[in-house]
Amino acid sequence: MLIRTEGIVLKTFEYGDADLIATYFTKDHGVLKGFVKGARKFKSRFGSSVEPLTHANLSFLGKENTQLPKVTRSDILNSFQTLREDLATLLAIASVINLLIHLLQEKEPNSRKYDLFLAALKTLEQAENRDVVCLVFRIKFLWMAGYGPRVAECGCCGTRFKGSFGLFYPSYGSLLCRACASKYAQQTATRLGSAAIKFFGQAKSLRFGHILTLRPETATLIEVQNVLNLHISHLTGKKP
Ligand SMILES: [Zn+2]
Repeated sequence: MLIRTEGIVLKTFEYGDADLIATYFTKDHGVLKGFVKGARKFKSRFGSSVEPLTHANLSFLGKENTQLPKVTRSDILNSFQTLREDLATLLAIASVINLLIHLLQEKEPNSRKYDLFLAALKTLEQAENRDVVCLVFRIKFLWMAGYGPRVAECGCCGTRFKGSFGLFYPSYGSLLCRACASKYAQQTATRLGSAAIKFFGQAKSLRFGHILTLRPETATLIEVQNVLNLHISHLTGKKP
């Protein structure tokens, strides 16, 4: 089996004294793991091409249906080095990578999601507010994957949201109107103001470049982040 595709390193795992197991998000084959022999042995271009977030042209070689093919070629297309130099950026990107690893299936191609991730990394390199780019990526990715939080209307009756704030119920993945909330919801809800609701809509529909021209209030971003983390933690069964 020989696979040629481009991909982005999501994470790596040290193996033995000199080798690595790398998890890639590839354009044509979804998530793929590869064995990278000698990657840590010396400071080579091949070794640096396995740094997390590196975008590279790749070849995988192995027996048919092997779980761990060998990476035989890794030519850097974009190192995204500047993203690895800043701790705050790395922390923000960690939330993105966790979401990708949780929601993507191994060996299931999805070039639209791949293109969205690559666009996000390219935008991050240019962006001043990298937190916002990571936040917007997570919202876009969830919608693309079919798990977007419903914040424009009531998740039970479909009544469109009106007013200065709504109540978001993580267990429903949705806002509920007051009538439905009183009938169905037992759990506590989180307040989501109209500016935060508007930001969710913009993040879903606008291109990254356009979103960076928006200047939401910090309080709005905190509300969006809070609801998104609750939503994702309910989806994945993990703490925010
Ligand atoms: Zn309702």
